Amino acid sequence: MNVIQEVVGKGWCIGCGMCAAVCPRNRLEIRWNERGEYNPVEMDGCADCGKKCSLCYQVCPAHGNTKNETEIGREWYGDVKGIQQTDETGYYLSSYVGYSNKNDHRKNGASGSGAPYGAVGEK
Ligand code: SF4
Ligand code: SF4
Repeated sequence: MNVIQEVVGKGWCIGCGMCAAVCPRNRLEIRWNERGEYNPVEMDGCADCGKKCSLCYQVCPAHGNTKNETEIGREWYGDVKGIQQTDETGYYLSSYVGYSNKNDHRKNGASGSGAPYGAVGEK
């Protein structure tokens, strides 16, 4: 089972790119489709790779058979010493807020004037 038939073919792909990133055979590449959306395409013929692999399908968040984020977070981080969890944030060790006070970083920054590249740790 791979994502081309099971996700892209059913119109469920959200273009996250995880499938292409994890494919051990480099058979998937993310490209624009005819509607201007990112979708994976097969690069080298995946005719039967899904029978032996299906990794792309397992990591894909766009079909209904995936675990939810809380389950995945619990499995990966639930036993970490000092871990905290809330429904709003998921699992975390600590949380910080900051911004750059250099030049016009804050005024020109994206994502709510957060830290642009290189700003973390600047004083
Ligand atoms: S089934 Fe495996 S080899 Fe085939 S495209 Fe998906 S991740 Fe790659
Ligand atoms: S992992 Fe799923 S949603 Fe993400 S790009 Fe691949 S097919 Fe689309």
